[in-house]
Amino acid sequence: MADTVSQTGADTLHRRGLMFILSSPSGAGKTTIARRLLAEDSEIALSISATTRPMRAGEVDGKDYHFVSQDDFDRMVEENEFYEWAHVFGKSYGTPKAEIRAGLKAGRDFLFDIDWQGTQQLYQKAQADVVRVFILPPSLEELGRRLVGRGTDSAEVIAARMARAQAEISHWDGYDYVVVNDDVETCFAKVRQILEAERMRRTRQTGLIDFVRELTQS
Ligand code: ADP
Ligand code: 5GP
Repeated sequence: MADTVSQTGADTLHRRGLMFILSSPSGAGKTTIARRLLAEDSEIALSISATTRPMRAGEVDGKDYHFVSQDDFDRMVEENEFYEWAHVFGKSYGTPKAEIRAGLKAGRDFLFDIDWQGTQQLYQKAQADVVRVFILPPSLEELGRRLVGRGTDSAEVIAARMARAQAEISHWDGYDYVVVNDDVETCFAKVRQILEAERMRRTRQTGLIDFVRELTQS
């Protein structure tokens, strides 16, 4: 009888995918964790936004963004095709629903690298599929060191990011999980554990219904 059960492939039961949100004050390590997750976990992919801004050198349509005209974008807004959208630097950006909906159904996970406002909007639209993770720096001093050490921003931009950090941190209680990124290995391991556990939620394991039916009938 045990054979009957194992034939259904208990280790490969179908599950619904999830929307994994990573947010943090700038410099806390969100991009570092996100890149590593994408590199090491084949079941999760970055959500691809639509935008009206022109393509930059090296970017690929459909990989970095879906590049669309303002008319197309406006039509998508009108037809409620975005989970959320916003104007940033005079251009429009949004998270299209169609691809994500199909992916979730097929058991694929999506990573979102977005701020607390985007998180709130996604949560309102897709509560059951969303897992919200907030990454904190061990201290503001260390946050400052990381922003300087990254070497991507001028002193002025770093000062502006530091000034915004406290306001961003104040949204920590709008998340399901909060991880302090002190040691990067420890932080990454915790983020992976969260993802693995969330994948096993009963409500996401859609294959369980048939599996348990077979289990109890055998
Ligand atoms: P964010 O995406 O949150 O702005 P980044 O991932 O770009 O932050 O990280 C900011 C800088 O801090 C980068 O130079 C990164 O290599 C470094 N960093 C990330 N995590 C740690 C850590 N745990 N310890 C030390 N440096 C880190
Ligand atoms: P860039 O043009 O440099 O790729 O992105 C500019 C800004 O747009 C970034 O701050 C980025 O986070 C934001 N952005 C990118 N995609 C989306 C999206 O789908 N929704 C929202 N609200 N912002 C986005």
